[in-house]
Amino acid sequence: MTAIATLGSHCALQVLKGAKDEGLRTLLVCEKKREKLYKRFPFIDELVLVDSFVEVLDPRCQRTLEENDAVIIPHGTLIAQMSSEQIESIKNPIFGNKWILRWESDREKKEELMREASLPMPQKVSSPSEIDKLVIVKRQGAAGGKGYFMAASEEDYHKKRNDLISQGIISADEPLYIQAYAAGVLAYLQYFYSPIKEELEFFGVDQRHESDIEGLARIPSEQQMKNNKVPSFNVIGNSPLVLRESLLDEVYTMGEKFVEAAKRRVAPGMNGPFCIEGVYDENAKFTSFEFSARIVAGTNIYMDGSPYYSLLYNEQMSMGKRIAREIKNAKDLNHLDKITT
Ligand code: AMP
Repeated sequence: MTAIATLGSHCALQVLKGAKDEGLRTLLVCEKKREKLYKRFPFIDELVLVDSFVEVLDPRCQRTLEENDAVIIPHGTLIAQMSSEQIESIKNPIFGNKWILRWESDREKKEELMREASLPMPQKVSSPSEIDKLVIVKRQGAAGGKGYFMAASEEDYHKKRNDLISQGIISADEPLYIQAYAAGVLAYLQYFYSPIKEELEFFGVDQRHESDIEGLARIPSEQQMKNNKVPSFNVIGNSPLVLRESLLDEVYTMGEKFVEAAKRRVAPGMNGPFCIEGVYDENAKFTSFEFSARIVAGTNIYMDGSPYYSLLYNEQMSMGKRIAREIKNAKDLNHLDKITT
């Protein structure tokens, strides 16, 4: 029997609950310090205890996963804690396309793929000396917004960067990526592409709550100036959003363009869940600053099913359950190779 395995963090509970609901066996690669937490959930069949997640690469772990015929579901923690080379070296089947995760982690490659998909993007600023408007400065990989900062001039950039270096939040040799700041309503568009059905599904939208940038709005501007700390964009949680229906057509078009671009550039393409992240401005024009080429934690808000999936499925369908369903369908058709790498 096929099993589903994932790392104990991010969206593990949703993924494994969905797998259990689909009748699959569930394995969690779990750091010892979190054993007590994950033991609370009866739908997890087996904990594979590790000191750190990189042990997924060890023969012991790989063997356990292999003996269980496990498919690994990659999520943000895998990308945050392992290099692209390490992820690509995993021998067990990974759901979706493990090769595209490198394109998510690397800012230059990310931009290339977004351009290929014709996603409207904020202007890239090549060097701090070119900062002539409000910009956001980002780190590589899935840092979750920690250590990001805003700057309005070259001087401001260097001051804040130095502050973060001295606080040990970023390192002095870390390459940073500068992009024009896009103001508006944040929207993280969640999709699923099935190479079995050759169909794109729109799952839902979430918003991220980021500390401490969000808390700043509660502080009067004159007091904000007195607070010397560089505000971060560290994600604390997510909440749901539904879009004006008139925006949906464009949402599907963007997702389809992204799937087509991924097919052209990163075989076998953007299979499984993904997310296009951005901002709607005052004219409801979308600007995209990011994509995630795997399940995002924002889908956790829809563990009982999302508004948009309730239109497509006459049952409660979470993203975790949708992934498990795809694996079952692929297995029945003898096409696991189509949905894993
Ligand atoms: P990211 O790692 O690119 O998802 O960015 C983390 C957070 O920074 C996002 O959730 C947004 O709040 C913010 N952000 C990133 N890029 C931009 C941008 N170009 N304009 C405005 N906010 C941004």
